Amino acid sequence: VLRWRSYGESDKIVTFLTRDFGKLTGIGKGAKNSRKRFPNSLEILARVQVQFRQRQEASLAFLESCELLGPRAAPMDPERLAYGAYLTELAEQMTVEWSPALSTYELLDEALRSLEEGPATAALLRAYELKLLECAGFATPLDHCCECGTTLANPDTPEIFFAPSAGSFCCMGCGHRREGLQHDGLQAISAELVARLRTLRQIPLQRGCENSLGPQRDTAAQITGQLLALHLIRPLQSTRTIEQLTRSRS
Ligand SMILES: [Zn+2]
Repeated sequence: VLRWRSYGESDKIVTFLTRDFGKLTGIGKGAKNSRKRFPNSLEILARVQVQFRQRQEASLAFLESCELLGPRAAPMDPERLAYGAYLTELAEQMTVEWSPALSTYELLDEALRSLEEGPATAALLRAYELKLLECAGFATPLDHCCECGTTLANPDTPEIFFAPSAGSFCCMGCGHRREGLQHDGLQAISAELVARLRTLRQIPLQRGCENSLGPQRDTAAQITGQLLALHLIRPLQSTRTIEQLTRSRS
């Protein structure tokens, strides 16, 4: 369940990410009160098996019943809930109604399970963001310069450039040339950080969770945030909660 809202006295309009149909929104008649057809199953982050009918030319599916598959454990702590809300909100924005998105579905499923079982880490969010962009067809090359194609993992050049407006990385030579042309807002970043991001995108999500980003954590968040911003339809709501939690913790 990606999100839901009340409709009238007793109905819910719920958006799911489904294995077979991509994103899907349906109306659950009496869902607020029916413990039989919808037993605690239409809450955000719930993993469910949903039975529905699609009425011809109706944009909303008709939800018949919904069974909760997980999580069944005790409610998550505020931090993991906030992270989960962020994961689902991103998946919601990166998918299209009735357009199958199996890789995104599997990624979100894996990420939510990681969150249920393990700690909320910044590395999990970064890995998820990079993989999600890849699933949506927006993967940025992280191994070679976007202009001349030279490898970015060169021990002789500890710094490279990031172009936030294009969401691309380039080598020092091309970066300086672009700066000479007064190109907008290039940001020098360490090549090692880009190598870490590349690893996070490649390795299984679960292993990514254990990967510490160290002192470059904030820069990593800023870069992936800028990569995402190029493709988001509207500003994210859930980032504010994560920022507040991070601030209160430090
Ligand atoms: Zn170059």
